[in-house]
Amino acid sequence: TAKMKTSHIAILPSPGMGHLIPLAELAKRLIHYHFSITIIIPTDGTLSKATKELLDDLPKSINSVVLPPAKLDDLGELKPMARISQTMIRSLPFLREVFNVLSTTTPFTALVVDQFSTVAFDVAKEFKISPYIFVLTAAMVASWMLHMPKIDEMYSCEYRDLQNPIKLPGCVALHGKDLFRPLQDRKGECYKWFLYHCKRFAMAEGILVNSFMDLETSSINAITEGKDFNVPPVYPIGPLVKGVSNDGVDVHNCLKWLDDQPHSSVLFVSFGSGGSLSPEQLTELAFGLELCQQRFLLVVRSPTRKSPNANFFDAQSTEDPFASLPKGFLERTKGMGLVVPSWAPQIQVLSHASTGGFLTHCGWNSTLESIVQGVPLIVWPLYAEQRMNAVMLAQEMKVALRPAVGEDGIVGREEIAAVVKCLMEGEEGKRLWNRIRELKDAAAKALSEDGSSTQSLLEVTHKWKAKANRIKKP
Ligand code: UDP
Repeated sequence: TAKMKTSHIAILPSPGMGHLIPLAELAKRLIHYHFSITIIIPTDGTLSKATKELLDDLPKSINSVVLPPAKLDDLGELKPMARISQTMIRSLPFLREVFNVLSTTTPFTALVVDQFSTVAFDVAKEFKISPYIFVLTAAMVASWMLHMPKIDEMYSCEYRDLQNPIKLPGCVALHGKDLFRPLQDRKGECYKWFLYHCKRFAMAEGILVNSFMDLETSSINAITEGKDFNVPPVYPIGPLVKGVSNDGVDVHNCLKWLDDQPHSSVLFVSFGSGGSLSPEQLTELAFGLELCQQRFLLVVRSPTRKSPNANFFDAQSTEDPFASLPKGFLERTKGMGLVVPSWAPQIQVLSHASTGGFLTHCGWNSTLESIVQGVPLIVWPLYAEQRMNAVMLAQEMKVALRPAVGEDGIVGREEIAAVVKCLMEGEEGKRLWNRIRELKDAAAKALSEDGSSTQSLLEVTHKWKAKANRIKKP
């Protein structure tokens, strides 16, 4: 009831579907605890179709505000990390305005941002709003972000040139070349931005993480017990992923097609909301799928030589993606495979009984969605922190296979075919399947009423409510 809604929470995702989706899920959770919620959307242009649809589908009790577009024209062409950061910075005056206007009716208690929108903490401070981060990746990755300021001081060379892997407490050891993409060039603009965001983690009153105790026990324990640096309290509250719903149109008939396939027989192939391959790599992938003789559902985006995340901001293809597939591919694979352009209803696909494997770019949302649905993985990292996730999934959690990349930087068709066969038919595939089923059960348990993630979130909500009550008292 309106009377119980004592506390108003602002949620501010940085641009990108992969950021908006889990923050929207958090908003949906929070309304059950009787908070007023306003999601504030920064943008540097028009909203993508996917963003609009998501906002339209939000429960009515969640308020959303789209900020006026931040103007970036004077900055030239920006890489995603810089573009996200600049959009956030230039949206701050609009954010201040929103706080000014909305605070008069219901003052805000807390502001929840993701790992790349902490710039807003400065504005939150002006309004005495408690700053919180929801880290939308693994706890292991959160640990890296917390350690980065120190790591930056410790090493002067490029991380990729380090002989030995770096081992953080409780986390799988990682070679420099597998670290976040912005860390691959320390002189680059993206490195500076990335480090900037990492340094601001310490400003938060709490860090929520989209992971759960049973998934990353040692990383989570190591962060919370970390005595070597100042860490705000950490709350693993995941996995927060989109629910499986029957609404939304199955534009390309993916689900209808899946209905006609045998149980656990289909490999779903998708590179997230923004990933795209080079033309050569797309060709190898297509031939690999053809060679392996397994059923597949391939989401294809037009290839690009620009960067593997060229479509991060719009999730669309720039050209007809089918035109880039090998000649005759669609005809030859008819019956065995379905190819859809740009976007598929991923959650529904993963939850479908015919889906038996997922070849993924290892975006954290996709990873969690696959865990929640118990679908084993082939990991094919492209950008951001995806290589780190890939190492963790394949080496540590043992729920994924990782195809070998050739010397030319390309995964060849034979390798692809062999790995897909191994996952879909082999003994190893069965082991991965068993292991990810255990994680699926653990995920459900974490989110159950007494589960670890539910309890963590409850702890945060208690803090917020206590603060709201303090403010109210004269
Ligand atoms: N997604 C989808 N259909 C697609 C591609 C992506 O529904 O064809 C959704 C997917 O379910 C996930 C999100 O978009 O929730 C992608 O987030 P992720 O963290 O996996 O990767 P990102 O796109 O941020 O790289």
